[in-house]
Amino acid sequence: MPSCLRGEKSLPLLTKINHIGIAVKSLDEALPFYRDNLGMDFAGVEEVSEQMVRVAMLQVGESKIELLEPTSPDSPVARFIEKNGPGIHHLAYEVADIEVAIAKLIADGARMIDDKPRNGAHGTRIAFVHPKSSHGVLTELCQVGH
Ligand code: ZN
Repeated sequence: MPSCLRGEKSLPLLTKINHIGIAVKSLDEALPFYRDNLGMDFAGVEEVSEQMVRVAMLQVGESKIELLEPTSPDSPVARFIEKNGPGIHHLAYEVADIEVAIAKLIADGARMIDDKPRNGAHGTRIAFVHPKSSHGVLTELCQVGH
């Protein structure tokens, strides 16, 4: 449906859950379970140097699972594993327009880790909302394509 027929006010900020990020100590150790035992479609590994992680992408229906392996002890994911152990690290919602989404959250008083989009895996643009604002869940906004 053309967006003009839906009306500005009813446009959702979030369009779907894009992926769930899972912090792992080693992709070599974690990947076989997700790819072979659970049978997820493996879409490859990409290094995201900005975040000091190697990311393995797995497809489940229209959503993805990201396995995140830190590439440096200074990586935020390494610090997360040190504090909490491996496990669910963040939840990523897809947005149609990341600048609009960031501006709305800031206007509503949310605390952002990123007040500007940065580069994520697979050519996405991402921004993190601070877990203090999202009640303990590190929340990623993710815009696919440019
Ligand atoms: Zn993510």
